[in-house]
Amino acid sequence: MAKPEKDSPETRLARLILNLRSQGVSDAGVLNAIETTPRDLFTPDLFQERAWEDSALPIACGQTISQPFIVGLMTQALGVEKRDRVLEIGTGSGYQTTVLSKLSRLVYTVERYRTLMGEAEARFKQLGLTNVITRFGDGGLGWPEQAPFDRILVTAAAPDEPKALLSQLKPTGVLVAPIGKGPVQSLKRYTGDGKGGFVVEALTDVRFVPLLDGVAREL
Ligand code: SAH
Repeated sequence: MAKPEKDSPETRLARLILNLRSQGVSDAGVLNAIETTPRDLFTPDLFQERAWEDSALPIACGQTISQPFIVGLMTQALGVEKRDRVLEIGTGSGYQTTVLSKLSRLVYTVERYRTLMGEAEARFKQLGLTNVITRFGDGGLGWPEQAPFDRILVTAAAPDEPKALLSQLKPTGVLVAPIGKGPVQSLKRYTGDGKGGFVVEALTDVRFVPLLDGVAREL
């Protein structure tokens, strides 16, 4: 029997979007942002075949490009609005950054590996994104010069409550971050109550690479 032809990228993308919907990513704007972000551009050559799979994949520097479902879930939980200035910690491949850039006014993104930052910047340029501002540095410190932010998304696991980042949020802003020291963390949402406090919700369990102190000494 002849081997079935491989599905086209369009078919794979359609299947991915259906999969995200069935897992609870229902926001039309978020789904559209994911649908119009070419994940293959962010995926290393070695894993091109798997670019449209709903799984995290390895990228350079021992890091990962996030699973599309988790990108959808986190972006939806963040509740980004078109006029928002968003801070993202952990640029990685730039995939999540690109999704955020389609939904907000400006995205400030920080990465501690120069190599990853450079590769992500090249992709933003290739995609013609004009609302992404990058910084090589320790994202755990946030970006005080540009604070306060409407939304903050952390895509590496913080050991505990990220106080420095919370202090850079607007009074009614939202921060979403994986929190925990082990291999499995709790995805938490902090919503400012307008009086200096936060409502904290645990959304689901996730597996992220750790948020590390300082910038990487290696490339
Ligand atoms: N959102 C990314 C996934 C990133 S993986 C994507 O869609 O591809 C987490 C990233 O956080 C890694 O690139 C890691 O180097 C970065 N990171 C970890 N600690 C950091 C820190 N303190 N400051 C900035 N980036 C950090």
